[in-house]
Amino acid sequence: MPPTRLVRPLLALSLLAAAQVPPSRAQGLSPVERRIAAWVDAHTEEAIAFLGRTVEVNSGTLNVAGVREVGRLYEPELAALGFAVRWIPMPDSLHRAGHLVAERAGTHGKRVLFIGHLDTVYEADSPFQHFTRQGDRAVGPGTNDMKGGNLVILYALKALAAAGALEGTRIIVFFTGDEEAAGRPLSVSRRDLVDAAHRSDVSLEFEAAVRDSAAEYATIARRSSTGWRLETTGTTAHTSGIFSPEVGSGAIFEAARILHRFHDELREPYVTYSAGVIVGGSQAQLENDRGTAEGKTNVVPRTALVEGDLRTLYADQEQRIRDRMRAIVADHLPGTSATITFEDGYPNMAPTEGNRRLFGQLDQVTLDLGRPAMRILPPEQRGASDASFVAPYTDALSGLGVYGDLSHAPGEWVDLVTLPLQIKRAAILLYRLTR
Ligand SMILES: [Zn+2]
Repeated sequence: MPPTRLVRPLLALSLLAAAQVPPSRAQGLSPVERRIAAWVDAHTEEAIAFLGRTVEVNSGTLNVAGVREVGRLYEPELAALGFAVRWIPMPDSLHRAGHLVAERAGTHGKRVLFIGHLDTVYEADSPFQHFTRQGDRAVGPGTNDMKGGNLVILYALKALAAAGALEGTRIIVFFTGDEEAAGRPLSVSRRDLVDAAHRSDVSLEFEAAVRDSAAEYATIARRSSTGWRLETTGTTAHTSGIFSPEVGSGAIFEAARILHRFHDELREPYVTYSAGVIVGGSQAQLENDRGTAEGKTNVVPRTALVEGDLRTLYADQEQRIRDRMRAIVADHLPGTSATITFEDGYPNMAPTEGNRRLFGQLDQVTLDLGRPAMRILPPEQRGASDASFVAPYTDALSGLGVYGDLSHAPGEWVDLVTLPLQIKRAAILLYRLTR
């Protein structure tokens, strides 16, 4: 998923800032860390070539063979670094390729879980298929979201290996095959990722990074994404009898009552909710975001259906808002009834103390690389991602990938000037976490 577009990369300034920091200013680095950084500088061209190979293979989420093929490009690379590599297929009913998991058994340091995804939003029939270099940019489908981020993970690991610093570390690399349109139910498609989190202390997710003219940003929190469905029923009759004790108000007024109270009564910081689709009448159906309805202006409606979303920052906030929605729904108008059901989507990634500490470590790496201090991205400026599934079980940072723009749009690109910086930052953070 791309970062929301509230924070727009201001390119000219950012590129300039990156260009003004020579590698020699990395004075806060230890000798081993300097070797790691030097290895990255010496292998950036090789990394870009590898990025090109992964981008050239179409891996739209529904292109199951393509997603699997991209996975195969990473497998020998990770195996060569001492990882036990396996592919986890999904049941046929999910119509998803599955996930690539690489695990390294060790003895010391934090157990680190790296998260990427192999799929892109560009299916095989998209006109946007190829990788090209245009000056300081690499353009291609999924360059920014997030084959560039996967590349940062791989080359950070290679840099540690080259410095002999991967020995003894405990690391899981988990590349999902369906981040852009996760297979349902999520309890199946995200079960193995959650399992990996249970074997980890720290999760680092490499969706595209965010910067503007003022700073580079780290993501320590993301909001949940929950679906809800409201169904109201009324007593059907000629409208001349509406509001009478026998008929009551009808299903559509009941739906309107509920939505009006949602609108007025649920507002609080970090919470948003919306009604996205509505149908109602004598008969109505609503499935897969598509609805039909029929009724008569002189007939009190029998049914109304509404679907919407809910986003919260904290698990207890989510439960509280759901309870208040249920209470509003239960306060029926005469002659009507209503039910609301929730579909668990992405859980919230709350801004925990552990995540803040992890941000502090990332920020120190950044300073030691001779860069200005980072800032924490406001949580409402980032959508849900796979990091949300692991955040309840580990400390987590999200959005550690590449800088670029136009995620999910033709022309998507990655900034190659800052690519080595992103690899170094990830590598040195990993090095420090795993001592
Ligand atoms: Zn993504």
